Amino acid sequence: MKAAPEAQKRLLDLAELDSVIDRLAHRRRTLPELAEIDERSKTFARLSTQVIEAETEAGDLAREQAKAESDVDAVRTRADRDQKRLDSGAVTSPRDLASLQSEIASLHRRQGDLEEVVLEIMERREAADTKVADLARQRDEVAAALATAEDRRDAGLNEIDKEAGEVQGRRAGVSGEIPADLLALYEKLRDQYGVGAAMLHGGRCQGCKVALSIAEMNRIKAAPHDEVLRCDECRRILVRTAESGI
Ligand SMILES: [Zn+2]
Repeated sequence: MKAAPEAQKRLLDLAELDSVIDRLAHRRRTLPELAEIDERSKTFARLSTQVIEAETEAGDLAREQAKAESDVDAVRTRADRDQKRLDSGAVTSPRDLASLQSEIASLHRRQGDLEEVVLEIMERREAADTKVADLARQRDEVAAALATAEDRRDAGLNEIDKEAGEVQGRRAGVSGEIPADLLALYEKLRDQYGVGAAMLHGGRCQGCKVALSIAEMNRIKAAPHDEVLRCDECRRILVRTAESGI
């Protein structure tokens, strides 16, 4: 392939812009906020589940407490009713009186036991409510941190995209100055090797840094200026410039 030395030199400008584009793409992929968001999203999901579990537990205890309180009420109502019967003087037989008094005493004991149960449930419920509040606070803190990380990510991506857009614009200008066949070869090599062209400098290909043999250097020196050379080692287009020392 033949191409004017000036057009070949423009490939180096293109390669430099492409390396900037690659660095920007790498920055885009490895933005620290991405890992942070991933981590915080997982924590948020875990805490959200834990909040629901704790809320379910607190709800169960609330129902359990209501049930126990209604048991207490039922026993109390029955004891009150018995007490009223006793106080009314309607029961006169000593045997019935004794039976009623015994029942009242038994109901009071039962009420006392049930009230103990209510207290125990209330303690557990209080602990469960505290747990719900703690977990919800942690979840909300993570949600807030996640939102700020997302804002920072968006700002970072915007900045990178702006810079990338600018570099792409310059690249379009440079590639417009390169003949189509040379540009096509460059693009093909860029796809294959990441970098399509490199300068010959100090007897080395600056793409792979491998020193060229004397025979290779002699071949290059003898080659016409408009011949498009390739590095034997890395296959990139080898561009000769004033600094190439040949
Ligand atoms: Zn090379």
